[in-house]
Amino acid sequence: MLQPERQILVVFPHPDDEAFGVSGTLAQYAKAGTPITYACLTLGEMGRNLGNPPFTTREELPLIRKKELQASCEAIGIKDLRMMGLRDKTVEFEDDEEMVAMMTNLIDELNPSLIITFYPNYAVHPDHEATARAVVRAVRRMPESDRPRLYGLAFANNTVAELGDPDIINDINDVREEKMNSMRAHISQTGWMLQEEEKRKEEGATAENNWFTNEHFYSYRFDEDFEDSF
Ligand SMILES: [Zn+2]
Repeated sequence: MLQPERQILVVFPHPDDEAFGVSGTLAQYAKAGTPITYACLTLGEMGRNLGNPPFTTREELPLIRKKELQASCEAIGIKDLRMMGLRDKTVEFEDDEEMVAMMTNLIDELNPSLIITFYPNYAVHPDHEATARAVVRAVRRMPESDRPRLYGLAFANNTVAELGDPDIINDINDVREEKMNSMRAHISQTGWMLQEEEKRKEEGATAENNWFTNEHFYSYRFDEDFEDSF
């Protein structure tokens, strides 16, 4: 497990973003009694997967995903879930300063020692990028000595070529079950992935690159900031 933290703030735009990249790490912290707040910006109401045959309607989807999100948080042990009410697929069009203000308010209220979000420019989806930008901007406006640790999830194809290997690799073997339950909770979106994972196991896939072995993060590099002026 990683070093002890006073309070963790996790910021992602979509329900299920937490499941793949950090649910194991968060489950470890939750077990250690570390308070975790998860600010989930949207309800993923534009999720592509309505099932085939459809298991729901576009109107009902936010309700389903909200329940899945709550179930995932329960599986992980997150007690403070904030649903921030932005609209899925439009986070990138939110006013930048309002987004930064939202993050600043959360930081002021919670005084986290660690924030986990995506890594700007390596987060693939426009909503992920907008979220990452807002978090980084909010943190770098703080005096350096007051800044919490900032871990970014990066999974763009050029990540390792440009950022190198992640500086934080966390062994999550002891919380595989919690991670599986978090992913299972988002069954409307993750069903196909879990099936694939089963297949991999049957085919005797090695533990390498397995979601259930470890989770990787990059400490945010303020000295190589994603934008020049701010
Ligand atoms: Zn996402």
